[in-house]
Amino acid sequence: MSTCVFCQIVEGAAPASVVYADATLIAIMDIQPINPGHALVIPRHHAGLLSELVPGEGVACFAVAENIAKALRESGLRCEGVNLFVADGEAAFQDVPHFHIHVIPRFVGDGFSLTFPPTYGEPVERTELDDSAARIRTALS
Ligand SMILES: [Zn+2]
Repeated sequence: MSTCVFCQIVEGAAPASVVYADATLIAIMDIQPINPGHALVIPRHHAGLLSELVPGEGVACFAVAENIAKALRESGLRCEGVNLFVADGEAAFQDVPHFHIHVIPRFVGDGFSLTFPPTYGEPVERTELDDSAARIRTALS
């Protein structure tokens, strides 16, 4: 049996409250929800990081996340907004090393927030933005 809890869920070896499932992925309730209705979209194939997804998996996962976000708004669960969140790597707060998308229903005053670094909000020089864009363009090609 896999040591990965999400692989165990995919294999049916661990329990989960399933929202949606198809040949590519499964969507379940997070056992530690930020708010009721907090779902996770998980590819069946074990991909630790976003970069390890096979072609099409990410698209499929985001399409289902989009549908769940729409469904949350019609579900009767409290949902005034939705966050889609991917933690790609430990430094980005990835808790389970199997790629997943959080679909988090939000409402004013729910207590969930993001903390920004002290420099956030200060304009950056265009040359720095252009340099970053060039580096990413190079890596894309
Ligand atoms: Zn896994």
